[in-house]
Amino acid sequence: MDYLMLVDKFNPIDMGFYDRVELTEVNGKFMESQAGNRLRLLLKKAEADGIKLKIISAYRSFEYQQMLWEREVSHEMWGGLSYEKAVEKVGRTLALPGSSEHNTGLAVDLGREGDNDVSDDFYKTPESRWLCANAADFGFILRYPRLKEQMTGIDFEPWHYRYVGVEAARIIAAGGLCLEEFLHFYSEKYI
Ligand SMILES: [Zn+2]
Repeated sequence: MDYLMLVDKFNPIDMGFYDRVELTEVNGKFMESQAGNRLRLLLKKAEADGIKLKIISAYRSFEYQQMLWEREVSHEMWGGLSYEKAVEKVGRTLALPGSSEHNTGLAVDLGREGDNDVSDDFYKTPESRWLCANAADFGFILRYPRLKEQMTGIDFEPWHYRYVGVEAARIIAAGGLCLEEFLHFYSEKYI
């Protein structure tokens, strides 16, 4: 398992990945096994610090992402858009099947206890501040930070955390980097 794998619309997951990935259940959701074990420890430490986090979304199978994608595209076409326009519009907020980090099992969307969906305002909460300070110790990074949109291609997502392993996560957090920068600057040493 390559915990530094880059997955985006230019780098979709190869289909064989789905047969190789090992999953584990964390609070009713699925994660890649090592990422899930680390997430379990993170949630436990958060709770010990008085912070209750909820997993909003974790692993999504290729088929599930495909279903989401097709549903959104047909919804837009019912609304009167051409297929091309519908694909363009949906592509701004939803990843193509195989192009979402959620398809790897390494990504998790987190919220506050009681939340049913991700929130743009999550960054203002104590839960978010706790994650910013502690997630790297468990190998997780804020994957789509503010001001890195040009490099990640994704708007700021205060709820989306990605497992990369503790060593890389600490360097990324300390340097205020995004994964793309880390892969660029440290690739010789780590890959
Ligand atoms: Zn996410």
